[in-house]
Amino acid sequence: MSYELQHYLPLELGLYQPLTVNEENTSIIKPYIKNPLKIQFDCYCIECKKETTFKFYQDKFDQYYTNQYQMDIERRIDSKLPIDFIFKCQRDESHVFYFTLLINEDKVIKIGQYPSFADLQLHKINKYRTVLKNDYRDFSKAIRLNSQEIGAGSFVYLRRIFENLIEETRQIASEQEANWENNVFEGSRMDNKIKLLKDYLPDILVENRSLYAILSKGIHELTEQECLDLFPNVQLAIELILDEKIHQKEKQLKISSVRNFVSTTIEKLKS
Ligand SMILES: [Zn+2]
Repeated sequence: MSYELQHYLPLELGLYQPLTVNEENTSIIKPYIKNPLKIQFDCYCIECKKETTFKFYQDKFDQYYTNQYQMDIERRIDSKLPIDFIFKCQRDESHVFYFTLLINEDKVIKIGQYPSFADLQLHKINKYRTVLKNDYRDFSKAIRLNSQEIGAGSFVYLRRIFENLIEETRQIASEQEANWENNVFEGSRMDNKIKLLKDYLPDILVENRSLYAILSKGIHELTEQECLDLFPNVQLAIELILDEKIHQKEKQLKISSVRNFVSTTIEKLKS
């Protein structure tokens, strides 16, 4: 059983998205029913505020009656009752991760989870707070909505942030390039805009710019599913631009601190 598969139910499967178990994916659910005692996975702990290993937790009674635990799970499946899986943070036992499954023949549905996907995601964007300024609220709102499977709603926020970042980049380019043609830029689709800004954007974004052509479409032209599928890629693109901004900011700080040091040292040596 691979580590990735243990990961799937707690961290990949969305709420109320029925998973149909077939021959190919049966190993996703099997260990949870047959041998949950061995299950562990790495995940961000919202209490420790860092990555940790969560291990399956059983209360004292179960520890002495291991087989009974498995029987209990199977009995619950037969009776179509929900099954709770509780995991504990290995740094502090009071930090828990849990989720509830409803298993009905070949359908597995996750009907509850703590912490929510949004809580697990949001800590990752905290470092962008200062570079995003006013857009930070919209960025966290987008992630919250997306974790609730709200496609178009979440996508609107994300697209606006992406467009704001492209606009900021356009301003820099138009200041720095003597023969910048704004008409050409404004009349272009998103993929071409990215190409025109290629010297100011991360390479990976420029290489994959065709992906963002779809951002020029009206939101009514996109299906709910298209919005959900696009979301992670646009989120990544935004984060790449922000990472670059943070990097540039730190670099500038270091440069000015070196300059400062050199000039004050020269002054000192002169006197
Ligand atoms: Zn913890």
